[in-house]
Amino acid sequence: MARVVVIGAGLGGLPAAYEMRHALPSEHQVISISNQSKFTFVPSLPWVGLGLRSLSEIQLDLNQIVPKHGVEFIHAPVTAIDPRARQISLPDRTIDYDYAVIATGSELALDAFPGLGPEQGYTQSVCNPYHALLCAEAWEKFLDNPGPIVVGTTPGASCFGPA
Ligand SMILES: Cc1cc2nc3c(=O)[nH]c(=O)nc-3n(C[C@H](O)[C@H](O)[C@H](O)COP(=O)(O)OP(=O)(O)OC[C@H]3O[C@@H](n4cnc5c(N)ncnc54)[C@H](O)[C@@H]3O)c2cc1C
Repeated sequence: MARVVVIGAGLGGLPAAYEMRHALPSEHQVISISNQSKFTFVPSLPWVGLGLRSLSEIQLDLNQIVPKHGVEFIHAPVTAIDPRARQISLPDRTIDYDYAVIATGSELALDAFPGLGPEQGYTQSVCNPYHALLCAEAWEKFLDNPGPIVVGTTPGASCFGPA
């Protein structure tokens, strides 16, 4: 029996875990680990940022949906991977694995340009659920007193679609 662990349950990790469960004979184990309890359909975040959808409409509870596919779900952050020992560390335990898929996504590089981001800068973002909620608040305020607005993305950004 082999144990496959997929770290991250976003747009990459969740389908990877499902596909592996589908492709592998049942004696093999597939485990999905995410530091988030919910799957977010990230491409719909611009709707949340404009108040057109609530976050709950574009999220799914991983504890409910993942086990239905024959995949074990663990809600915890992976804190370390030891590829020699084939062990993954969680805050409260260590998991042995035979194969690991790392699908932990990207990090926002808001420090790449001064002024970027809703927390330390003066721009809004729809790149994660929290930012989309902040954006929706800012958009409501903007509609009370509308004026010129700049919609865009920075040089070097990997994804221009949302803008
Ligand atoms: C607003 C917006 C709109 C987009 N629209 C489109 C589109 O229309 N079409 C398109 O093809 N692409 C689109 N993209 C890009 C697409 O959403 C990303 O490419 C995709 O989400 C990346 O998937 P991922 O699984 O690699 O990462 P993510 O979806 O970011 O998932 C990674 C997961 O890993 C978890 N994680 C991270 N670290 C750990 C850890 N240490 N332990 C456990 N879990 C961890 C994270 O919490 C997250 O849940 C869009 C992106 C944005 C921001």
